[in-house]
Amino acid sequence: MPTAFIIGGGIAGFNAAIAAAKKNYQIVLLEQASFFEYASSRNAAIARTYDPDPELVYPLQKSVLNMIHIPNLLNKQGLLLKPLERDYISESHPLHPDLKPTHQETKTSFGDFFSGLWIPANGAVDLSLLHAHLKQEVVHYATKITFLENAQVKEVCGSEWIHTIFYEDVNAQQSKLPLSKEDIVFLAAGSWSANPDQIGLQKSFPLNAYKRHLFFLKSEQASNQEPIYWSEQEDVYVKPENGGYLVSLCEEWKTNGDDYHADEKIIQQLPESLKGSFQGLLHLGVQSYWACLRTFSMDSRPILGWDPYHPNLFHVCGLGGKGVSLSLSLANMILAEWDNKNAFSSFSPQRFL
Ligand SMILES: Cc1cc2nc3c(=O)[nH]c(=O)nc-3n(C[C@H](O)[C@H](O)[C@H](O)COP(=O)(O)OP(=O)(O)OC[C@H]3O[C@@H](n4cnc5c(N)ncnc54)[C@H](O)[C@@H]3O)c2cc1C
Repeated sequence: MPTAFIIGGGIAGFNAAIAAAKKNYQIVLLEQASFFEYASSRNAAIARTYDPDPELVYPLQKSVLNMIHIPNLLNKQGLLLKPLERDYISESHPLHPDLKPTHQETKTSFGDFFSGLWIPANGAVDLSLLHAHLKQEVVHYATKITFLENAQVKEVCGSEWIHTIFYEDVNAQQSKLPLSKEDIVFLAAGSWSANPDQIGLQKSFPLNAYKRHLFFLKSEQASNQEPIYWSEQEDVYVKPENGGYLVSLCEEWKTNGDDYHADEKIIQQLPESLKGSFQGLLHLGVQSYWACLRTFSMDSRPILGWDPYHPNLFHVCGLGGKGVSLSLSLANMILAEWDNKNAFSSFSPQRFL
């Protein structure tokens, strides 16, 4: 039985594992830290069905509709999106009735009025349940799995066909994985996929990492029984949770693929950004904040498909700000690209050649 070696144990890597298992590959999943440790757990966990890109509307809707069927995965309190007038929903894709937006004005728990487009099916994902679900799916479909945490891939060798992977464990112990002619490699390394040369792979498409911070403001008033408020006019979103509010200023700083350092100066921007639609949050203290990276291709679409230079290398990256929302349709998107060798499609790496 051939083996799929997967580099990266986030949402992308686990979806690659599900897809490969469905194609009857054994799975070896290599993660340099712990599974889901980076972008896949440091995000805002908002599931959104709308997107201005018509290519993404259907997979986003499909993913969120799949989430609804998994108990407690999606806290469906909806999303209130300012401004009102934007046409987010593509006419070319029929809408599930649950996804239809209407106009709504709400009095928030922090005392401000917020009016926007109400998208009822959107909501907050329980990330622990999502991670557990993806892991269970791999176990369900794969006949043989090797999960390797603290296994950092150092080098991938092969001028065309990849024949060896070298990785290192926490004790700096080097190990070597030889590949047979049927074996394949998935590069699902999140922001690190932007610098494939670090592990000996040629850079075959443009991919960039952008830093964004999240703040948690403590409050007894907050409850996850209210919607997420997103002001696109002010570039701020607020996600009420039990015990406080998760806030993002939606900033984007281009940076290196491994720069996860939180910048202290960002705290100073917070009051100015909350002044407009979120005045009621101004008096709350910041309990914690952190930085994470969103990774984008040039057209902001995910990159899913075979590498143009290494015939047994498949990329799953560039999930940008949509990795959580897409997480329950990504394996099927990978499968749709699988048999598309050398062909151009909306998601294939070939579109950048
Ligand atoms: C601040 C912020 C907020 C976000 N909010 C949302 C949201 O509300 N909704 C939404 O849908 N999306 C959101 N996202 C986007 C979402 O988090 C990402 O799209 C998604 O997590 C990307 O998953 P990934 O598996 O590609 O990357 P990651 O989770 O980063 O996984 C890549 C993995 O590869 C591993 N790796 C890298 N190099 C190696 C190597 N050499 N050897 C072994 N392992 C390696 C890394 O350790 C990492 O665990 C947000 C992102 C950010 C930054």
